Amino acid sequence: MRDVCIVGGGVAGLAASIFTARAGLDTIVVDGGESILARNASLENYPGFPDGVDARRYLQLSRQHARNAGAEFELGRVTRVEPVAETALDRGFRLETEGGKPLETRRLIAASWSDSDYLVPLDVGRIQRGSKHFVNVDEAGRTAVDGVYAAGRLANEPHQAIVAAGHGAKVGLAVIHDSEVDFYHDWVAPAGYFTGRGREIPPGCEEVDETERKRRDERARETILDAFAEPLDEEPTMHPSVERD
Ligand SMILES: Cc1cc2nc3c(=O)[nH]c(=O)nc-3n(C[C@H](O)[C@H](O)[C@H](O)COP(=O)(O)OP(=O)(O)OC[C@H]3O[C@@H](n4cnc5c(N)ncnc54)[C@H](O)[C@@H]3O)c2cc1C
Repeated sequence: MRDVCIVGGGVAGLAASIFTARAGLDTIVVDGGESILARNASLENYPGFPDGVDARRYLQLSRQHARNAGAEFELGRVTRVEPVAETALDRGFRLETEGGKPLETRRLIAASWSDSDYLVPLDVGRIQRGSKHFVNVDEAGRTAVDGVYAAGRLANEPHQAIVAAGHGAKVGLAVIHDSEVDFYHDWVAPAGYFTGRGREIPPGCEEVDETERKRRDERARETILDAFAEPLDEEPTMHPSVERD
């Protein structure tokens, strides 16, 4: 059984997976299609990209980031989730995916803006507004069902990528806290930051010396230079109701 299954590998789901995987939780992201952000023509309000960024490139980099953090990926639309029979030690959920084997997980993050029908058997508290469904959550993304969370636009967050990413991260942190992982802030600090004050390095944190800091900076530069070396040969996805020649 997985520790965390994230349904939806869009903006919120990827951010959540980076946090849960870095905290050492066995994390799988199941994605059934495309982030709505793939419809964007130029992402210009995401901090860190002063002249904007191609949204597809941003999504590619976020997927690479999640993989580097240790998250696994599976392609397939989740069609149904039900509780696994509760035992004295453990409980969890079984997910059915289109064309794939069922998956079992202790905790589930629904980050699947556009579809949450698979949650119906769990009665998490969905609200319908027009043709859209949202999931009711508390301030940390927890739903009415213990172990089930919702993140991003599906949790009725405002419709911007940075908000979805931030909310995904916050929900990832709630999962980490609820899983009782020994966790501090997931920080990388310069050598001596904690130990220079006679403090232990907190769990999940690291101190790096100058050589290691420069090595990481070099690796980060190479990754980014490589990612931006060529223009992307992918076009934004048009709204399905718009006819094109
Ligand atoms: C035309 C357009 C332009 C936009 N431009 C901007 C902009 O300039 N700036 C900005 O900040 N925001 C922009 N946005 C909004 C931004 O894209 C969203 O707010 C953001 O993507 C929401 O993130 P999310 O993770 O909640 O959903 P998404 O990124 O859509 O991720 C949801 C994921 O869940 C998957 N999924 C759905 N159902 C299932 C299922 N049953 N099983 C498995 N996987 C499933 C989907 O395939 C998708 O990958 C734009 C949106 C559109 C439509």
